[in-house]
Amino acid sequence: MKLPREFPDVKASTCTACGDCLRICPTQCLELIRRIAWLPRPMDCVSCAACVWVCPVDAITMTDLGPSTTAMVPPVNSAWP
Ligand code: SF4
Ligand code: SF4
Repeated sequence: MKLPREFPDVKASTCTACGDCLRICPTQCLELIRRIAWLPRPMDCVSCAACVWVCPVDAITMTDLGPSTTAMVPPVNSAWP
């Protein structure tokens, strides 16, 4: 199964764990893990980018992993502590 083309990439050092992205996500595929937003279920992400626009500190960008990716868990956190 192919995953959506783009995923949210959370900059861990910027995320304040406010939870806004979790609340706005239409598929509830984001979670706070160790006080950083994380995408444990990338298969559920519909690449709407709502999490990008709601983040008050601009911690999220969309990452293009390419249309042929079949990765189960993409590297959604660019600076995992
Ligand atoms: S891009 Fe949309 S569906 Fe994917 S995690 Fe963000 S809010 Fe949720
Ligand atoms: S909205 Fe931004 S700051 Fe808040 S939890 Fe999500 S990524 Fe972190």
